Amino acid sequence: MSDFAKDAINPGRDPIERQMIISEAIWELLKEKTGLTDNDLVRKVREIDLRDGVLDGRARSGPPKACPKCGKNMDKGSSTCIYCGHNVPADVFSR
Ligand SMILES: [Zn+2]
Repeated sequence: MSDFAKDAINPGRDPIERQMIISEAIWELLKEKTGLTDNDLVRKVREIDLRDGVLDGRARSGPPKACPKCGKNMDKGSSTCIYCGHNVPADVFSR
């Protein structure tokens, strides 16, 4: 990634504000390029919120995922299995 791009997506020190700006940019690009509407976004947010069965503005974390190599449960905060060392690509939306 170029320095210009890094500067553009890292405008401040507040990571939540930075995430909000990135989310807003992604959503505006999607609307412009695909014709999706704000109602589509609202429906999707509601669907994701309800995946844990409760409409409460939060998406609870799911059960731990098994290492694809050894089958033991992975530590949610790590992309490397502590048992066998297998590296699993990080899921940016895991909680
Ligand atoms: Zn493993």
